[in-house]
Amino acid sequence: RNDCPTVNVAVLGATGSIGTATIDVLHHLDRIDPTTTWNLWAASGHRNVALLSELAGQFTRPPTQIAVSDPASAATFAAGKSLAKTQLVTGPEALVEIASAPEVDVVVAAIVGRAGLESTLAAVESGKRVALANKETLVVAGSLVQSTLKKAESVAARSGPAPSTPTPSGPARSSPARSSPARSSPSDAPRSGAELLPVDSEHSAIFQCLGEQQAAVSGVPACKPRKLILTASGGPFRNASMQEMHDATPQRALQHPTWEMGKKISIDSATMMNKALEVIEARWLFDIPAESIEVVVHPQSIIHSMVEFEDGSVIAQLSPPDMRLPIQYALTYPRRLACETPTLDRSRPWDLTLQPVDRERFPALELGFEVARVGGTAGSVVNAANEEAVGLFLDGKIRFTDIVPACRRALENHHHETQPTLTRLLELDRWARAEVRKHYA
Ligand code: NAD
Ligand code: MG
Repeated sequence: RNDCPTVNVAVLGATGSIGTATIDVLHHLDRIDPTTTWNLWAASGHRNVALLSELAGQFTRPPTQIAVSDPASAATFAAGKSLAKTQLVTGPEALVEIASAPEVDVVVAAIVGRAGLESTLAAVESGKRVALANKETLVVAGSLVQSTLKKAESVAARSGPAPSTPTPSGPARSSPARSSPARSSPSDAPRSGAELLPVDSEHSAIFQCLGEQQAAVSGVPACKPRKLILTASGGPFRNASMQEMHDATPQRALQHPTWEMGKKISIDSATMMNKALEVIEARWLFDIPAESIEVVVHPQSIIHSMVEFEDGSVIAQLSPPDMRLPIQYALTYPRRLACETPTLDRSRPWDLTLQPVDRERFPALELGFEVARVGGTAGSVVNAANEEAVGLFLDGKIRFTDIVPACRRALENHHHETQPTLTRLLELDRWARAEVRKHYA
């Protein structure tokens, strides 16, 4: 094992739902992958320093760096004996430092919300493989990420392959490279530029549907998808009345039927704002117009999404709802290795239901499509308003049914710009939060 190539992984948001699942995947890969040493090079957490220290301490080779992004919590971080050689870095800047450290091959962007933006951007700018869970980065700054990726690509094309690659076993340059999301270069382009690989299960599914379809016939130009069909579980209020949603408590809204996730995304799933954010995410990740994206409700969360091609053929990806699979695929792509996720039980009858979304009860969806269509500053405003409104709802300050109208109001009250800078996007993020607070104070 000592002479295997090492892949250095930085997990940003290691203490969260995706972060801890990623740590599990790294332990698993280290056990089963004879070709690669999977090394947790760095991990970050915000406030839960005890969990961060515990997770980091699980590895025989301790991480080189640990980041505590909340400065106040950093003071309470106690490194156990196993972390004696680990360097502690603190504050939000530490996330950017880790994301762009030259030693790091893969960055798992698993921070929740706009707080993950700078580090995710830094990882893309530094040419990393980015396993992206933090969809909010694409919602806020999709076009900036896209242009950075294109820049990284042209730099890569000029300078040739980089010495370090996250797929040491070799097949990285086979035809699926073509279907890498947000990477439009031909398959023989060197792969030293950044790669953005989806962790979100729907986008991983679409990525897989596109990849499998293209990998089969190498040398044939990629088939353009006609439609990307995102599935949605419908969340805890799939069958709820307007009145039930009006009266919903945070506790009730947090009860997701098929997934266990962090609080913010659980509320997003209940309003279906999560699907709205995913429409925007897909728009940027796959560089496809909003008109080519559809959403369908699928309560079992087994079909993770589908792609319809020009001839009407629809390809879908199925697996039980478990994030370890898309996380692992983003790490090992284009390789597929045994995964700890249980396989689908086919020994009993099973149903897969598909139904249209009720857009009246879930107005978030329309908002998502609108943002995906107009781009520019809209994503930053809606994302910030949503983060703020979700926080207010969790604190018992507003109603569940106030969340989406708060986002709509912020969108309509802002002056839309088509080509904003990062500074402008961050200004509008602050403005939209204040706007929501002002209205409900
Ligand atoms: P979580 O709340 O469980 O974890 C969030 C992580 O971010 C934690 O490690 C926390 O310490 C860190 N964090 C929180 N605030 C921070 C701040 N201000 N600065 C720096 N770090 C901060 O969330 P999660 O469910 O793991 O979701 C993480 C991301 O993955 C979100 O963008 C979510 O939309 C996306 N995602 C999650 C799932 C899922 O199944 N949980 C599925 C798809 C996509
Ligand atoms: Mg998802």
